[in-house]
Amino acid sequence: MDVVPVPQLSDNYAYLVIDPATREAGIVDCAEVPAVLDAVDREKVQLTTILPTHHHFDHVGGNEDLLAARPGLTVYGFDDRVPGLTDKVGDGDRVKVGSLEAEVLSIPAHTTGHIAYYFEAQGVVFTGDTLFAGGCGRLFEGDAAMMIVSLEKLRQLPDDTRVYFGHEYTVNNLNFALTLEPQNQELNDKLAWAVETTDGGGYTTPTTIASEKETNPFFRWESSELRATLAERFPDLAMEDVAVFAKTRELKDNY
Ligand SMILES: [Zn+2]
Repeated sequence: MDVVPVPQLSDNYAYLVIDPATREAGIVDCAEVPAVLDAVDREKVQLTTILPTHHHFDHVGGNEDLLAARPGLTVYGFDDRVPGLTDKVGDGDRVKVGSLEAEVLSIPAHTTGHIAYYFEAQGVVFTGDTLFAGGCGRLFEGDAAMMIVSLEKLRQLPDDTRVYFGHEYTVNNLNFALTLEPQNQELNDKLAWAVETTDGGGYTTPTTIASEKETNPFFRWESSELRATLAERFPDLAMEDVAVFAKTRELKDNY
């Protein structure tokens, strides 16, 4: 399997997912068509499928134009708000790109219909706006309790799973994370790497589940350093998972 990041809008990523055996491809989260079709031509693949993670405009805004340009595409989706939806899927369903197969994981809270595509055999997951490198999505249609369940599902994937996320927010996310865990060495190291990478015009995608366990405050609600920082700043905060996560999210919303 080849995964080609296709930058969209100001900081979004679409991803061209290629089956090397059949040269068929799917596109995860299409906001803008020209860059996607350029990638399809460059890679000399046949586009068959659109794989939207959720219905927000910056993830599906290109669906209708892409369908007009390439009629007959399969458009998977969990949420009826996905434009052009042809094949509605549910949690645990399997979707195909050529001979590649992914499992649909329902991971609500950013939106109620947010899903991930987990290519287990290849060790790859597409997490849209639920899990970023160093961060998680805002809670537009769910709460902290719902998001913890969604993120725990992703945290249970194998450590070496490559995580392709929806936005290049990594430097900002890790700077915020450092306000909670300034002593976290892996976090400091990853921030230095992310600054150097993006300054050079590179991408910080993909990350891995292991790296997120070490550096992402929204994967680290049990962290003693994170909890100590919150306890010092908010002496009345209940030190249980949902309250810790909700306070972390609230701080990030205002960061
Ligand atoms: Zn979104």
